[in-house]
Amino acid sequence: REMGRAFVYVILGGGVAAGYAALEFSRRGISPGDLCVISEEPVVPYERPALSKGFLLPESPARLPSFHTCVGANDERLTPKWYQEHELQNKLTENMAAAMRGASHMLDKRCALKDKKGHGMNEMYWTKNNFDSEASMDILSRQKRSRSLENLPLLFPTSIRENMPWNDDTFRGIELVLGTRVKCADVRRKTLLTATGETISYNILIIATGARALKLEEFGVKGSEADNVCYLRDLADANRLVSVMQSNVGGNAVVIGGGYIGMECAASLVINKINVTMVFPEAHCMARLFTPKIAEYYEEYYKSKGVNFIKGTVLSSFENNAEGKVTAVILRDGTRITTDMVVVGIGIRANTSLFEGQLNMEKGGIKVNGRLQTSNNSVYAVGDVAAFPVKLFGETRRLEHVDSARQSAKYAVAAIMAPDKTADFNYLPFFYSRVFSLSWQFYGDNVGEVAHYGDFSGGTFGAYWVNKGQIVGAFLEGGNKEEYDAIAKTTRYKPMVQDMAELERLGLDFALQV
Ligand code: FAD
Repeated sequence: REMGRAFVYVILGGGVAAGYAALEFSRRGISPGDLCVISEEPVVPYERPALSKGFLLPESPARLPSFHTCVGANDERLTPKWYQEHELQNKLTENMAAAMRGASHMLDKRCALKDKKGHGMNEMYWTKNNFDSEASMDILSRQKRSRSLENLPLLFPTSIRENMPWNDDTFRGIELVLGTRVKCADVRRKTLLTATGETISYNILIIATGARALKLEEFGVKGSEADNVCYLRDLADANRLVSVMQSNVGGNAVVIGGGYIGMECAASLVINKINVTMVFPEAHCMARLFTPKIAEYYEEYYKSKGVNFIKGTVLSSFENNAEGKVTAVILRDGTRITTDMVVVGIGIRANTSLFEGQLNMEKGGIKVNGRLQTSNNSVYAVGDVAAFPVKLFGETRRLEHVDSARQSAKYAVAAIMAPDKTADFNYLPFFYSRVFSLSWQFYGDNVGEVAHYGDFSGGTFGAYWVNKGQIVGAFLEGGNKEEYDAIAKTTRYKPMVQDMAELERLGLDFALQV
């Protein structure tokens, strides 16, 4: 590899936000070779939420390439081939049309197109002020099916080839630098230095480095590198978790942490026939979002599936056997639980370290303005790593959810490529989760008084959060599309509420009438 490459746009990170940004760049029309995606992961961007859901199923689990971005938003699935060729194909078609229009000396000539071995593949007819664009498209699609597009110019007779505005860059798609960690960034020089020693320079950088799982060691507990202790952030973690689960079917697991990862992994462990004990310090699960009443519903459901909860305490140490495997966990309250495996989901930390001291930070992330631009004009930040102004609440937030990663990524590309046509990012926070056969969505903010409604005994139920007299957040379990759309719309409109009892009585009907 050469020691330095330069790109117009570089996306640093190859997660959810990177995939959605790449698709948006492509739709808005970049030139081949303009964009580079650099990722520490060895695969092209994928829908990370699948790792704690379909990926962990014992029967027909989801595996790549099925969940590459952007299938999570019912959009195109960007495989490695897409990055290599998609952009290219658009550009070639455009270039051919342009070249043909300009090649007046070729009028009324008939050109047989041959592949490298001299076999005829197609014919192209050139007539005055006209060319057969369908034929040229057809050549492209055949060629795409058969072999690399890089050979395409060889198919044309030299006389035509020389008139095509092709150069080496024409045959580059979106450059992927995978399995490569960036170890230094210099925003003044606009360069990134990779762990392989390459310097990559950019005109515009999008930081999409996401976040990493917090380790138990950061809380003073040693031993989480043991073979049967699992974290879950990326594909490598997920593969490891699957293999540890498979070797412990019928055994016991302790799940440390009662947030998203803990709850989703606990459900998957149960589905894989493993007995689960969940341990977390808060009074109830999903403490950052759920009310005690909502949490009680899910905890009871989990208990009905055999999950045991130990709340209000934390892990203090592990017991290991001679092979170094964890055999028991000791809690701060003195409880000892024997176990075959441990899953840890105790939160994440945004990957900001490359930019500390270079860009402004806020709320544990990289501070950006309403255009997702950092304190350096040429640098944008999106996804879990970005702290952006949430207009609806009048304050800066850093969100750790997939929808925010997708939307912020698409928005940043729009702001970069069509700055005059792009108003400030106006995002309504949206989170969801699916466990067992349950499924919920939440929109907005969970501050203020709460009005619960619906059937908490196993049907559809939800809650509104009312702050300063206005609805600012809404939660719904078991809704349909129309109902979820209605609570989203309600949260965006922030209607005034006079009477909490009336809101509780109306329940979902309130949102359906907004
Ligand atoms: P990421 O997707 O984390 O991508 C960051 C990328 O940057 C990674 O590829 C990483 O390797 C790369 N990177 C970082 N530093 C460097 C470096 N120095 N050099 C090169 N590459 C680097 N959200 C929901 O709303 N609902 C859910 O149900 C849900 N489920 C989830 C389940 C799991 C198991 C996980 C882990 C997360 C889940 N999330 C969910 C959260 C959601 O996946 C994240 O919000 C989203 O992935 C953030 O996207 P991102 O692109 O900002 O970061």
